[in-house]
Amino acid sequence: MNYDCDKLAELLFPHINTTVAELEERYPERSLPEGARVTRFAPSPTGYLHIGGLFGALVDVLTAKSTKGVSYLRIEDTDKKREIDDGVSAIINGFNSFGIDFDEGVTGFGEEKGAYGPYTQSQRAEIYQTVAKELVQKGLAYPCFCTAEELSAIREEQEKGDALIWGYFGKWAKCRDLSFEEIEESIKAGKPYVLRFRSEGSEDKRIFFDDIIRGKIEMPENIIDEVLLKSDGIPTYHFAHACDDHFMRTTHVIRGEEWISSVPKHIALFKACGFRVPKYAHTPQVMKIDEEDGTKRKLSKRKDPEAAVSYFVEQGFPKESLIEYLLTLLNSNFEDWRRANPGADAFSFPFNLKKMSPSGCLFDLVKLNDVSKNVISVMKAKSVYDYIASWAEKYDEEFFRVFTQNEEFSTALVNIDRESPKPRKDIAKWSEVKEYFSYMFDEYYTPDFLLPENISKEDARAILQNYLAVYDSADDKDAWFAKIKDLCEPLGFTPNVKEYKQNPDAFKGHVGDVSTVIRLAVTSRRNTPDLCSLMSLLGKDKVNERINAVIESL
Ligand code: GLU
Repeated sequence: MNYDCDKLAELLFPHINTTVAELEERYPERSLPEGARVTRFAPSPTGYLHIGGLFGALVDVLTAKSTKGVSYLRIEDTDKKREIDDGVSAIINGFNSFGIDFDEGVTGFGEEKGAYGPYTQSQRAEIYQTVAKELVQKGLAYPCFCTAEELSAIREEQEKGDALIWGYFGKWAKCRDLSFEEIEESIKAGKPYVLRFRSEGSEDKRIFFDDIIRGKIEMPENIIDEVLLKSDGIPTYHFAHACDDHFMRTTHVIRGEEWISSVPKHIALFKACGFRVPKYAHTPQVMKIDEEDGTKRKLSKRKDPEAAVSYFVEQGFPKESLIEYLLTLLNSNFEDWRRANPGADAFSFPFNLKKMSPSGCLFDLVKLNDVSKNVISVMKAKSVYDYIASWAEKYDEEFFRVFTQNEEFSTALVNIDRESPKPRKDIAKWSEVKEYFSYMFDEYYTPDFLLPENISKEDARAILQNYLAVYDSADDKDAWFAKIKDLCEPLGFTPNVKEYKQNPDAFKGHVGDVSTVIRLAVTSRRNTPDLCSLMSLLGKDKVNERINAVIESL
């Protein structure tokens, strides 16, 4: 170019008095221990948190935590089309619900903490324009007045020809060589313009970088004169990424794999700005097996309710379960660590980015349910009660009233088969509890006595009548079971299951069948937690009433 770049910088940015050197001072290098990593999660405020976002944020937080570094939340609101009013709160609520706690950054709509802010891009115009002004001064950026029509004409030409690279570069970059006078004239005429990067890349050079998850990557160098600032002065993602990650002193940019192809642009931008290039780690996408055609595909916002983090909140998966499950997807050594550290806080897991697999990880609701059953089974009854109550308060008011009307009763109920070496693993999410325990609440109990196929009406009646004759609500578990065993022989059943298996024709059934009849009469279910405990919670009157009603109906 044959003009004075400082003069052009003043023409374009007369209002910018800050310098990059001042920004360097305002946002100094962080003083952190050796090896500490600074990571960030940088969503657009779409009001929607995808499970892949929670997955990525977990990687950021754990990477920072395990190295005594810093993680922060930055809101990338430069794409006006994708924004919704207060699209931030839903994202923050999603993180809060699952215990994702960033050290710095945006904490709510219009709120933030930390010394490297503002953490919302729309409030950082001065920073972007300061860096842009300096790029113009260095001859590394220029205004481009091409209209949308001109740009599509270029695109059409490129599509017709045999060019391997499309975009604004080389002979297509008409505005690259405008004279100062031409620029000045267009600006005076009020023509809208974008600010473009003046790429110094060459078509036959390649760049190499080390992706922490994927290893060495080689790609063609960037030659495109990428847009840095749009016509309204708002930065593009690429330029904002360089400015923000530099001045927020990010050491490790961990982001979705869809950004890999942009790395050459980013490296060129960091270098042009005189910034140190951060380390990159591109995480795999969260996939699922399609129910219809069995193929592996990306979890889709449109098709899959479980793509939204809010789904897990509404379903009542405790935060510990989802995090535990995501950790099994993140690092293959998590399960070994968990076995060695049963009870430890999942966030103390020594997460290692290098152990992440680069291939898409499969999100499987069935596995999540299993993990969640394990996690819930080792919770204390009091926590389970509190979790259920606070879930129900929000999502099922009527159940909330029923469940909390007698806290002692409900806590004892969820305590059955819990706090023992072999706890029952039955509940995966709080929304299942109402149906699971419906027979324990008069409000939901609908008697439904269906005789087991192998038991006759007469036998069922005899079992129940004989049982009522000996039933004593004060019996402990042993006495309770001894009585059920004693019912067997006189009625042609055996108290010994083994004996029955050896000689099934000699008996009508075994003690299991006898207890099933009693269980069905009391709960209308074949499968329940410990029946003796359930009966003692229901109390003598209710047990008598339910069994008598069944006897009458037979
Ligand atoms: N705002 C970008 C996105 O939502 C963030 C990418 C990044 O982490 O750099 O995809």
